[in-house]
Amino acid sequence: MDLNHLLNSLIPSWNSAGLLLVYFTYLRLAGSVLPGKLVPGVTLSDGSRLYYRCNGLASLVLLVALLGLGAWADFVSPAVIADRGLELLSTTFIFSVIVTSLLCAVGSKSSSQSSSLKPYVTRNKLNDWWLGIQLNPHFMGIDLKFFFVRAGMMGWLLINLSVLGKCFENSSLSQSMILYQLFCLLYILDYFIHEEYMTSTWDIIAERLGFMLVFGDLVWIPYTFSIQGWWLLYNKVELTTAAVIANCFVFLIGYMVFRGANKQKHVFKKNPKALIWGRPPKVIGGKLLVSGYWGIARHCNYLGDLLLALSFSLPCGISSPVPYFYPIYLLILLIWRERRDEARCAQKYKDVWAEYCNVVPWRILPYVY
Ligand code: NDP
Repeated sequence: MDLNHLLNSLIPSWNSAGLLLVYFTYLRLAGSVLPGKLVPGVTLSDGSRLYYRCNGLASLVLLVALLGLGAWADFVSPAVIADRGLELLSTTFIFSVIVTSLLCAVGSKSSSQSSSLKPYVTRNKLNDWWLGIQLNPHFMGIDLKFFFVRAGMMGWLLINLSVLGKCFENSSLSQSMILYQLFCLLYILDYFIHEEYMTSTWDIIAERLGFMLVFGDLVWIPYTFSIQGWWLLYNKVELTTAAVIANCFVFLIGYMVFRGANKQKHVFKKNPKALIWGRPPKVIGGKLLVSGYWGIARHCNYLGDLLLALSFSLPCGISSPVPYFYPIYLLILLIWRERRDEARCAQKYKDVWAEYCNVVPWRILPYVY
């Protein structure tokens, strides 16, 4: 693709804006009518709690079924996103800028004193725009933070499926593409099966909704996590059987550690006496779990996520660094995030956290870091 063509493809369009509008409208409707568990969020500093309807899986399955029907009836082209990828990217970017600016304008006028809606305004307007003003802003009954992360994760799968559709159109489906698609599909389905775990993550409980999160959810997740798929659309890779098997192992181990660690913490928070790996849990200060993965490293879940990210890129071989964008980005992000979480926990748990660090000295990778 030459530079001129690339720049032209990046021009946002009303068609793309229309596609986005249809997508968000669908998510809004499906989110409010489809059945799903109502999950209480963590208790906020003012004692209040938000409730999240976790029906992301039902929304996703119905959407894919509807799109499948649409494609079968020749109503939508499966390659519609793949054909308009860059244009959709720039349109979503502009949408993120507009939404963040509106959030700032509305948020800074809020007179609410609740933890969710209280405005956090500093003298640095750019900083406020970037980090957000309110913790949990709502619009027409939608919890925007939860809504955007759902839109981003689903968007990632839709992009992948469209790239797959393009492969069929070009008759260029490869073993690498199948592996990449399969790993991502399992990861995204697993995410929605365990959507309720999201309600206690750092983004939901501690981060205000500013450009960093809006852009991260709507643009970064779907468009950069799918780079490997785009890359495989234009590049051929021959994998040996040994490479395929090794790749599957990296995925399975990553999944086991990622899901296992997150699940153990979630279960522990709900029932501090629940068995971990078949034994009563070891706990420090009555608050911090030291059993299972949480006794191996203080953020084993990050290690699992990094292995998974690597498994999404390995099908692309090692001829180019481009498909490794996601694992490299994630490594930097999670190292930074671990530092921020560490500082937060040290402040919250004080001596108990210091004791935990003594008992479990490793941050992410046992014996290394
Ligand atoms: P965690 O789920 O690791 O949550 C950290 C919090 O857990 C701490 O602030 C503390 O909160 C609690 N905690 C820490 N140690 C213990 C312990 N030993 N026992 C009990 N509670 C403990 O963090 P994240 O929200 O950052 O990550 C969640 C998942 O999302 C991870 O798997 C991560 O890899 C993934 N992720 C993926 C990203 C991506 O781009 N793919 C980006 C970011 C995250 P409390 O105050 O409640 O005790």
